[in-house]
Amino acid sequence: MTPMTDDTALSLQTRISNVRHGGRDLRVIRPCHLAPGIVLRSRPKVLHMEVDRVGLEQLAAAWSLAVFSPRSIIFLPLRQNTDRSRAGELDLVFLHSSLQFRLAQWTQLRSRLGTGDLHTAKPAPPVLPTEPDPERWRPRQSRNGVVFDSAAQTLFLVGTRDGFRVTGSLAGRLHADPEACFDQSVRHSCVMLGCGRRRSGTGRHGTPGILHIQLTPTLT
Ligand SMILES: [Zn+2]
Repeated sequence: MTPMTDDTALSLQTRISNVRHGGRDLRVIRPCHLAPGIVLRSRPKVLHMEVDRVGLEQLAAAWSLAVFSPRSIIFLPLRQNTDRSRAGELDLVFLHSSLQFRLAQWTQLRSRLGTGDLHTAKPAPPVLPTEPDPERWRPRQSRNGVVFDSAAQTLFLVGTRDGFRVTGSLAGRLHADPEACFDQSVRHSCVMLGCGRRRSGTGRHGTPGILHIQLTPTLT
């Protein structure tokens, strides 16, 4: 795996919306220009994400923002890249559990984002100094993991800073060293993330408990 240092900081042009909602101020960060090469679909037992190189870089940057911005909601409106009318197409949101945001309020919050303020973020990629083999990582306690939940055609990755750091390091590994993530049996580079809520590997509200992220260089 390519070592990650501050020199490898990812760059992401963002729009930041500060919204008064439910009696408190919420900050939602989304890409200024969504990369076209990211799609996310829900299948019966797995969440399947396909990314090209540019999309993967944006995904890694968003994941890093989730690590370092615990008071922000990170929003990737991925359905813009697909036919929104098809069942199973999903947006993606990174949400810190400490915000205690009720997912039923997401549609209303999303409708109030407006254009937001432009900002260029340069988060450092998540590093995993204490995990010897992140591929074997399977959280057994939700406080250390990332829970998969869904509402309003959106996948919510709900977690802690440590949870996003661990899962983000896996996504970052696919970005930094796709050859190391190459699976000969299926002839593509990918990583698999498990849901941290239960050992059975299922998410909340029927959400699949596995997120498969596949690099497809020719996606766009
Ligand atoms: Zn795969």
